[in-house]
Parts: sequence; structure tokens; C-alpha cells
Amino acid sequence: MALRDCPACGATKATDIPAFSRGEWRIGKCDACGFVYLRNPPRYDQLVDEFAWEKTKAEHRSRLQKERPVLMAIDRAFAFRWRFRRDVGSSYVRVFGQGKVLDVGCGRGLALPEPLIPFGIELSAARHAEADANMKKRGGYALFGPAIERLQDFPEGSFDGVLMSSILEHEQHPRALLEGVRRVLSKTGKLYLRLPNHGSSNRKVMGARWGGFRYPDHVNYFTVPQMKRMAEETGYRFRQLNRFSPFSDNMHILLTPRT
Ligand SMILES: [Zn+2]
Repeated sequence: MALRDCPACGATKATDIPAFSRGEWRIGKCDACGFVYLRNPPRYDQLVDEFAWEKTKAEHRSRLQKERPVLMAIDRAFAFRWRFRRDVGSSYVRVFGQGKVLDVGCGRGLALPEPLIPFGIELSAARHAEADANMKKRGGYALFGPAIERLQDFPEGSFDGVLMSSILEHEQHPRALLEGVRRVLSKTGKLYLRLPNHGSSNRKVMGARWGGFRYPDHVNYFTVPQMKRMAEETGYRFRQLNRFSPFSDNMHILLTPRT
């Protein structure tokens, strides 16, 4: 398997971090810019097939369960409360307001509530079919395939909003994905990103046992300053929405086109 160049700066040299690597999967740090990434990711077709998210998620849960049963129990308790305390869909309405919104990696196409008009891109054939049916009922539709390729099928400035929740950490070409999204966003459009924060305090405390390490699904490990840099380099203005959530494993980011 060929080693991947740094997705942040394009440098070819990186140094493996054995503590973060697992089995055949090599996590390394770019010698030039310090970005942490999976150096030998599987191909798209393997991701759909043998490393399908549903399967690796189950493996991931059982690994964590074995390594840190008490923390997992706490995590579940909080996830339970979280569901009652927070309606994710309504937060998307708050961010986007109204109009056409593209959900990249849309699953079954149910994330975006009324009055948003939902569009999607999905890599799994089964989920795509469901998403397309769900979205067509509400005036949108879903395309099937890798995000960077399918974005090209939408005309420039098509969308008032784009949602990428738990996507950028999976994308082998995050820069190209951000550029592709930039093209389909209207001048006043918004890109809402949610992804693991490799610079989070929890990651620093947990080290290699941090729940954000997923093999081989997560191929990019952004910190907030690294996310900001890539966003600005690909034509966006950057704002972190959860700056004051010091214990969050994730960053919530709002990007708007720089004109
Ligand atoms: Zn680099």
C-alpha cells in the first residue's frame, strides 16, 4: 500500500507514531507541518466494503469496552442525557435558517429538518437509495458516490448551506473536499463542520486510548489551528462555534466563503 502525502501541506515525509498506530495502520506526523494522519489508508471501495462503517464501529466499541469499561459507562450515561438535552436537527435550522442544504455523507438523509430543503451525497448504495427517496419527498435529492466527484455534478453556487458532520476526518483529500464545497456554496452560504479535535484536552489526557482514534476510518487528525489554516487556504472565513466547551472531543466550525 502506497504511503499518503501529508493532506495538510503535501509534504512527503512523515514520522510514524507507534503509540497511536494499531496493527497494520500507521499513524504518523508530518515532518514539515506537524499534521497527524493515517499514512496508509484503505481505498474508497474497501471502505464501502470490508471496512464498512457499521462493522468498524462495532469493533471500535468492543475495543473501547475492553480497554476502558468505566469510561465507556460514563460516556453512555452522558450520551443518554445528551439526547434529551439537545436536538441536533434544530441546531442545523439555527445555523442555516432556510433554503437548500447539502448533507455530505448524508446516510439515510434524515438529518436536516423542515424548513430546510435537503440534498445529499452518500457513499453507501443502500443508504443512498433511502436518502434519495426521503429527500425527494421534500424537494431535494441525493447523489451516490465519493463526495469530491459528486460535488462536481452540482452547479456553482447551488447551496445556501452545506453540512459535514463526521466527514472531514474520513476524507483522504480534505483540501479538495473543502475546495469542492466552496464552489457549490452561494456567496452568502455557510459550511457547518463537526469533526474530532486532536488538540482536545480529553485527547491529551487519554493519549492513545482517546475515542477519536478509529482504525482505519479516521484518516485525518485535525487540531483547531490546523483546521483554521486549511479553511483559510481554501477560501473561507473561519469561526469555531464551541470555543468554550473545553471538555468536548469535537470541534464545531462555521465556514463562510471569503469573497
Ligand atoms: Zn504537512
